[in-house]
Amino acid sequence: MDTTIKTQTENRMNWLNKDGRPVLIAGPCSVETEDQMIQTAQRLKATGKVDMLRGGIWKPRTRPGMFEGIGAKGLPWMQKARELTGLPITVEVAKASHVQLALEFGVDVLWVGARTTVNPFSVQEIADALRGVDIPVLVKNPINPDLALWLGAIERFEKVGITRLGGIHRGFSNASEKVFRNRPQWQMAIDFKTELSHYPLINDPSHICGRRDLLSSVAQKAMDLNFDGLMIESHITPDEAWSDAKQQITPEVLADLINGLVVREAIVRGEMKTKLDQLRKDIDIIDEELVHVLASRMNVAREIGQYKKENNLTILQTDRWKEVLEKFTQKAGTNKLSEDFITKIIKAVHDESISQQEDILNS
Ligand code: PEP
Ligand code: MN
Repeated sequence: MDTTIKTQTENRMNWLNKDGRPVLIAGPCSVETEDQMIQTAQRLKATGKVDMLRGGIWKPRTRPGMFEGIGAKGLPWMQKARELTGLPITVEVAKASHVQLALEFGVDVLWVGARTTVNPFSVQEIADALRGVDIPVLVKNPINPDLALWLGAIERFEKVGITRLGGIHRGFSNASEKVFRNRPQWQMAIDFKTELSHYPLINDPSHICGRRDLLSSVAQKAMDLNFDGLMIESHITPDEAWSDAKQQITPEVLADLINGLVVREAIVRGEMKTKLDQLRKDIDIIDEELVHVLASRMNVAREIGQYKKENNLTILQTDRWKEVLEKFTQKAGTNKLSEDFITKIIKAVHDESISQQEDILNS
């Protein structure tokens, strides 16, 4: 690789996790009082685990009348928290006036919330307010699973000259989701990492889970997917928090959670590489077979399409489809495959068959 490109890439990556270790950003969902912010900051600092303090100053609440943030008067408290702990501070900004105030109070890193990322007008307003300012910006995923919208927000900041950028994966709103507050849809985070591998991506278990008992498993998964860090909400008296009470944990519980995480090696070296390469060769062969099998299946589907056309039959034959689906789900368990996975696969294959048959029927 061209060394200048490599250095640039490393710089972009390393602005957040300088020693390659995952970073921890922690602090209350909302800054409530001076005492709450200072105490939280000091107890977080005492854990020795935290790299940056977060605090919500302006809160984007779903319904009016909920606590909408303490506003600018909380900024001096965050500033004081930084002076007392030596930890950099980050706040969420949603419009130009927030940016102005955050900069005035020397906030180190800005973050853009999920409800802002969905709106290109708002993102552009924030970006315009940052023209010529050299400050890092972390962009949360939009509330809906739309990768382009997430990448688009990053691009708006690139265009005004921000170089230290990163993503925060906080999950996606989904009405049918039962377990999580926001469905993680990990593949979307993997897509972000694939598209923008030169920027750090951190995970926000708090807003994914919406409850305490799931935080550590989500944080562990993020570590196993090689995320660059975590943002976790922490409060001195979580049950009394003015926002997101159910998902916040004390600094000490947070420290236990972090201690319990297994952080694995991301780089494959030496002997491990040889062994992995062997297994990956097997995977490559199987992948080729997979493509071949799928292509053969589609060939038959196209033949069926031709027959349906000649005999004026509908593409979807519901009983036949039910039969195929059932056959697949029955085989899931005995083949060590989850029913959910096998269902997704056969539905995707069926969807492609339909679209190929459509082409034939309409040609
Ligand atoms: C937050 O971090 O407190 C917040 C409002 O998060 P999100 O934008 O992910 O909802
Ligand atoms: Mn919150």
